[in-house]
Amino acid sequence: MLRILHQIFRTGVVTEPLPEDVESEVAIVGQRLEEAVRRRFRRSLAIREVDAGSCNGCELEIIAMNNPIYNCERFGLQFTASPRFADLLLVTGPVSVNMEIALQRTYNATPDPKLVIAVGDCGCNGGVFGESYASLGAVSNVIPVDAVIPGCPPTPFDLLNGILRLIEG
Ligand code: SF4
Repeated sequence: MLRILHQIFRTGVVTEPLPEDVESEVAIVGQRLEEAVRRRFRRSLAIREVDAGSCNGCELEIIAMNNPIYNCERFGLQFTASPRFADLLLVTGPVSVNMEIALQRTYNATPDPKLVIAVGDCGCNGGVFGESYASLGAVSNVIPVDAVIPGCPPTPFDLLNGILRLIEG
């Protein structure tokens, strides 16, 4: 225990703050998100993330939305473990053949009215993997999609902005 404490004090804070321009853009988008979430979802937008076959690059960026720098919970975005409590599905692709039924079941288990965003180039159009014997390509080939957030991978800021564009529109 003492060794761990010693290590913590010796290492100090290793995270880096965002560049100032990005920080202020996140603050602006965050403020609009908070307002839109309060208006349309009574202060809390529940998100279920579905990895339908990605390389996990997109997942790393989605997880980063929850880190102390982006801290998306302060804007009213919360991740839920069950689609039954979700307002929004955030789906990364490409959809592998093995995930087709699981994705359809997740979509069906999400209560109406529900929103779906396809994340990353692979989720939008199959990306570098495209369509093949193992891949169904875009998320929209399997379930209805309301919006897309392109990028390989999209940054946490792109994700916040993409969610804002959908729920503000
Ligand atoms: S868009 Fe890029 S990071 Fe995301 S799953 Fe596809 S290859 Fe990976």
